[in-house]
Amino acid sequence: MATKKVYIAYTGGTIGMMPSEKGFVPQEGFLEKTLASFPEFAHDQMPQITIHDYAEPIDSANMSPQDWHLIAKDIEKNYNDYDGFVVLHGTDTMAYTASALSFMLEGLQKPVIITGSQIPLTQLRTDARDNIINAIYLAAHYPIPEVCLFFHDHLHRGNRCTKTDADGFAAFSSPNVPPIASIGSKIKVRKHLIFKQHRAELNVQQFSAPKIAILTLFPGISAEFVEDFLAQANLDGVVLQSYGMGNAPINNKPLIKAIKKACDKGMVIVNCTQCMQGCVQMETYETGKVLLDAGVISGFDMTTEAALAKLYYLFSRDLAVDLIREKMVTSLRGELTP
Ligand code: ASP
Repeated sequence: MATKKVYIAYTGGTIGMMPSEKGFVPQEGFLEKTLASFPEFAHDQMPQITIHDYAEPIDSANMSPQDWHLIAKDIEKNYNDYDGFVVLHGTDTMAYTASALSFMLEGLQKPVIITGSQIPLTQLRTDARDNIINAIYLAAHYPIPEVCLFFHDHLHRGNRCTKTDADGFAAFSSPNVPPIASIGSKIKVRKHLIFKQHRAELNVQQFSAPKIAILTLFPGISAEFVEDFLAQANLDGVVLQSYGMGNAPINNKPLIKAIKKACDKGMVIVNCTQCMQGCVQMETYETGKVLLDAGVISGFDMTTEAALAKLYYLFSRDLAVDLIREKMVTSLRGELTP
């Protein structure tokens, strides 16, 4: 059997950070050196690896759509030469990057697994070692053609994840879809969950700079605040974080009027619930139905991260607004259950 090959992109994050006077900071060149010293890589079941240590590893709090594009292009450049890809990334915005890459990498037929850690690789009780070794092993031997996120024994669909623990090792949850694979003494793959791509050739869809934002409802939110928010900078799309099944304070008539006015003008407002689990169903309560009638579209059970990335993606493709609305409510990469 030919040795498998895995490409590792180290973008930054705690995993490769060093303690400093300013707190943990990313350190250029450090990760490559440390990984090279791991005896595990000499094991015959481990693939041949190539590590690309990004010139300026970053704390993922600084990730931007331009960085997503660099990662996607890096994968595209090396796509034909490797069996799988591992992206080492900070945990803070990992779910956003996983969601963005799932849309950017059109026609992906190889595994791309994003992982990181809560404790740096250098520290005694680090979770980095397990996460890296399992991610590399899965990328080599389990040809799951999706952007996945591996953390604490679970391989999740990337665009279904959200960071739910600031310091626990099980930092990520995929509240609406079970893990694609779980690691124990055996590796259990839920094959029926694997997403089937419609096209066979990889194409990287660059994100242009559409104006996308997130608006969270809260008790006491004023109509003026919502009006000002929606009027600013010609927003193209908004993720509206509503209550429960997609509900809003409809007794605040000017607030609803502001939302309707924005939808009438062509803004795409997608309704995602503030709840950790479950699905938006705007027709259930009057407080949701009014949003539906105002032109707000359902985000179903999409995470905010996935909805935001999907808006970036669709508005980067020169599509008519009606088509964007149609695609927002359709599963493109397994990101929603309609
Ligand atoms: N602030 C770090 C980052 O996201 C946290 C981590 O990696 O866990 O880069």
